Amino acid sequence: MTRGVALLGSTGSIGTTALRVLDRHRDRFRVTGLTAFTNESILAEQVRAFAPSYIGLVRNGTATHAGWCHGESCLVDAASRDDADIVVNAVVGSVGLRATLAALERGKRVALANKESLVMGGSLVTAAAARGGGEIVPIDSEHSAILQCIGTRPVSEVRRIVLTASGGPFRDWSADRIANATPEQTLRHPTWQMGPKITVDSATLANKALEVIEAHYLFGIPYERIDVVVHPQSIVHSFVEFIDGSVVAQLGAPSMELPILYALTYPDRVSDTGVPTFDPVARSPLTFEAVRHDEFPALRLGIEAGRAGGAAPAVFNAANEQAVALYLDGRIRFGDIARSIGGALEALVGAASGSLDAILHADTEARRHVKEQLGC
Ligand code: MG
Repeated sequence: MTRGVALLGSTGSIGTTALRVLDRHRDRFRVTGLTAFTNESILAEQVRAFAPSYIGLVRNGTATHAGWCHGESCLVDAASRDDADIVVNAVVGSVGLRATLAALERGKRVALANKESLVMGGSLVTAAAARGGGEIVPIDSEHSAILQCIGTRPVSEVRRIVLTASGGPFRDWSADRIANATPEQTLRHPTWQMGPKITVDSATLANKALEVIEAHYLFGIPYERIDVVVHPQSIVHSFVEFIDGSVVAQLGAPSMELPILYALTYPDRVSDTGVPTFDPVARSPLTFEAVRHDEFPALRLGIEAGRAGGAAPAVFNAANEQAVALYLDGRIRFGDIARSIGGALEALVGAASGSLDAILHADTEARRHVKEQLGC
């Protein structure tokens, strides 16, 4: 029996990689649903290759495709269908939250690449999983590493987790130079091939802040036991330190194929021809550095938002999304991204967070605040 997989965000970087993995494992999985944001020509090709029963395009396309669904609601529709056992949520940004909640409520596995789901709605997501019997298995490479390192041990045996960060393209730049980095410089990531939003987040280290919050909710580990270290080679995907002092790490080439495959087959491992054999000599040396918090203030802002809880993580996430969009449009400087996140967090401190509506309201307010603050 094959397991049905609905893939949300199928034309993005994670989506296309997931389809390469699924294509190699057609004996185990069948693609039951595909949704894309705007890229209808790639989606049409994928539909021909995988013949899903559900096809959704979030933004209305130019051509008419018989049987395709349109609009943002297609994400929840695709995630809710009975023929999907696993929902791969590879949507970029806060629009992914509703689909994660819907899938968990229906008892499905969510292979989660949309970290915003947990950052914005951590406690709602955890509650939906408990109610519906669904489970989240992370696709993010650091969280997949932590899951693999912890294995079957209880979290009470974990003293600390250490997330690795590549440090991005400006790891050793001066603060002045970073503040004026162009989008072209920002999008040249040294180790990972990713979509533009997460590549900017990797350069500001906002991505690592999102991942700290994500780790907190995924593993139920308090913030004071989550650390970040810069590891420019992106080979060690994270460390887990246990209470006896033993440290376990997970290593591999910087490719998303393994974390995607593991999220689909967890807790089993299956043989796969797409993941290359690891060569420690070729990958030497592996180095580690402390985070330069003063040069990369978005990381600390995000961790503080996580610790503050309530709507603060959602505000952090939305302010960042808005600022990154303005930056990629060439309307603000790189240094304005962290500054506008800080402004939004201050302005919206104490915003309500008790329901999905309250969180989505905080999200809208944070975006509005960033635009007003920057005069955009
Ligand atoms: Mg990551």
